[in-house]
Amino acid sequence: MNPNQARIQVGISSCLLGEEVRYNGGHKHSTLCTRDLGRYFDFVSVCPEVGIGLGVPRKPIRLVGDPSDPQVVGTDNPDQNVTQALKDFAREKVRDLTELCGYIFIKGSPSCGLFRVKVYNDKGYPQEETGRGVYARVVTDTYPLLPVEETGRMQDAVLRENFVTRVFAYHNWQQLVKEGLTAHKLIEFHSRYKYTLMANNPQSYTDLGRLLADAGKQNVHALGETYFKGLMESLTRKASRRSNTNVLMHLQGYLKNNLSGREKEKLGEAIEQYRNGIIPLIVPVTLLRSHFHTWPNDYITKQSFLQPYPDDLSLRNQI
Ligand code: SF4
Repeated sequence: MNPNQARIQVGISSCLLGEEVRYNGGHKHSTLCTRDLGRYFDFVSVCPEVGIGLGVPRKPIRLVGDPSDPQVVGTDNPDQNVTQALKDFAREKVRDLTELCGYIFIKGSPSCGLFRVKVYNDKGYPQEETGRGVYARVVTDTYPLLPVEETGRMQDAVLRENFVTRVFAYHNWQQLVKEGLTAHKLIEFHSRYKYTLMANNPQSYTDLGRLLADAGKQNVHALGETYFKGLMESLTRKASRRSNTNVLMHLQGYLKNNLSGREKEKLGEAIEQYRNGIIPLIVPVTLLRSHFHTWPNDYITKQSFLQPYPDDLSLRNQI
């Protein structure tokens, strides 16, 4: 990341930063967040339960009723209902979160859980259908394109890499909008994301390109909004080993007149070994970058696929 660039603001459940705010007085410190991602992200810590005045420690709460719009009540005392307080807190809080480029939540919480949070019926049994924490629901409803993830799911290297790629893309877009969006900049941005899109969702590169075909004749802000929605939705789809291999081969094609026979063979071998799961993605990508360093190509050098985020996050060493 350019050192002059603003650091990336990412929302986070406070207990993941090691803050002792859980109902039992503990925390759920995530070293992935504080040690690794914290080098590039400025975390905006929110504990909604403390925010509504529940103390630490406190009696646990849980979701009950309709999984699509559950109530949050005391686990031991169903008469304690904090649903409205949590919703009011969330609606007030999200107004301060306009600068966020991502949000990391914690699994299973009736306030902060993002996916598959248990919802109980009035007899006290978990229902088959699960829900979303009440605070997390307000955040995701308010910012539907914001990259969001749970720390539990981020143990999966592919999901982790996908989330960070989306956060950086979201941030790059916000920077572009702040600088002032023009049709030219929009097309340039799209061209920079060509191979990232091709890896995540091949059809979307074509569809989004078509959308921008007569960008100069359209209202650039309305067009930008539609484009950004398409971009973020496309990036939510995970890149596969197969689609990444396809991109690597496309990039290799740009070097066909430059590399020696031996170099071509080595690069081809690295791509094949990646395809077969023998080596991680970072190996052929580093080799390609090194060749493009020797044989510069402006169009390729700008491609976000070759460097979607700083290398020292080491995310491509594991996929
Ligand atoms: S409300 Fe959210 S931030 Fe607070 S302790 Fe529970 S999970 Fe952590």
